[in-house]
Amino acid sequence: MWLERCNKNKLLKEISTFGIGGPARWFLEVNTVELLQEAICQADQAKIPYLIVGKGSNTLFDDRGFNGLVLLNKISFMQEEENLIHVSSGYSFSLLGAQTAKKGWSGLEFASGIPATVGGAVYMNAGAGGHETCDHLLRVTYMTTTGDMVTYNKEELQFSYRFSSFQTMKGAIVIATFELLRNQEARNQQLAMIDYRTRTQPYGDKSAGCVFRNPKAASAGALIEQCGLKGLKVGDAEVSTLHANFIVNKGCATARDVLELARLVQNKVHEATGVELEMEIRCQPYENT
Ligand SMILES: Cc1cc2nc3c(=O)[nH]c(=O)nc-3n(C[C@H](O)[C@H](O)[C@H](O)COP(=O)(O)OP(=O)(O)OC[C@H]3O[C@@H](n4cnc5c(N)ncnc54)[C@H](O)[C@@H]3O)c2cc1C
Repeated sequence: MWLERCNKNKLLKEISTFGIGGPARWFLEVNTVELLQEAICQADQAKIPYLIVGKGSNTLFDDRGFNGLVLLNKISFMQEEENLIHVSSGYSFSLLGAQTAKKGWSGLEFASGIPATVGGAVYMNAGAGGHETCDHLLRVTYMTTTGDMVTYNKEELQFSYRFSSFQTMKGAIVIATFELLRNQEARNQQLAMIDYRTRTQPYGDKSAGCVFRNPKAASAGALIEQCGLKGLKVGDAEVSTLHANFIVNKGCATARDVLELARLVQNKVHEATGVELEMEIRCQPYENT
């Protein structure tokens, strides 16, 4: 019965910052924990593949779409308790960074300008300027595929560069608790970070942020730039002329264009430097659904 509440064939390009992606077989916006619970449990029981999407800012959807249920996380609440912030996974990570810094709380200044949800940021362990989401994370409340809620302290989880244990699990991040510190400079630091971001990254273009993980020795962007690949195009997908680790959609780029361009970049960088670039953005191939 609950499937009747879902939209059919919603175009995923409408919920992706890349502006790319075909139709989802079923699509549901979830704005309460109860609805998320119902949808996850029932999809799991019916063996329907499902995907939780935050702001779709690190995701490349397939041109053929997703042959299952896409749950768009709109669960949005935030509660302060002295220096602890309890925030739902659908809350804007960028807004959280700006709001906390404005109040003189330090720890999430770097979040300002990352177009993510809190859930997506925890899942990816998003970071910038030497800071990561896990730095000030205290605990996470997680919903299992059977709808049970489990609270994990940070020590029970693993985090590393753009990795969290949640990438090996199948449920949903529901609430994150951050422990922040008092710092009168927090607002200035947050404003400086957003200023740097808007000067160095193609904010006006459709993208999913950095395409490749930074290898140990150098930044992926520097290697790509060094190989003279800025401006390289496949269809409407282009290596940004501002930041070489961004691929931007200049109009009607397809997932196939982006993947072909990414492969071209990987091959050229490997030929010139011997470095193998690994993808950071998460691809959702139709075949896997
Ligand atoms: C202009 C721009 C700038 C960016 N700058 C940065 C940056 O500075 N640093 C950085 O690290 N990233 C950056 N990114 C990439 C992106 O914003 C991050 O990876 C972010 O963490 C993704 O969050 P999201 O909510 O959009 O996740 P989505 O793209 O919606 O999802 C990403 C993955 O997380 C999973 N997921 C999302 N929510 C949940 C949940 N509640 N429970 C379980 N799984 C979930 C999804 O299933 C998917 O596998 C940038 C992107 C853009 C477009």
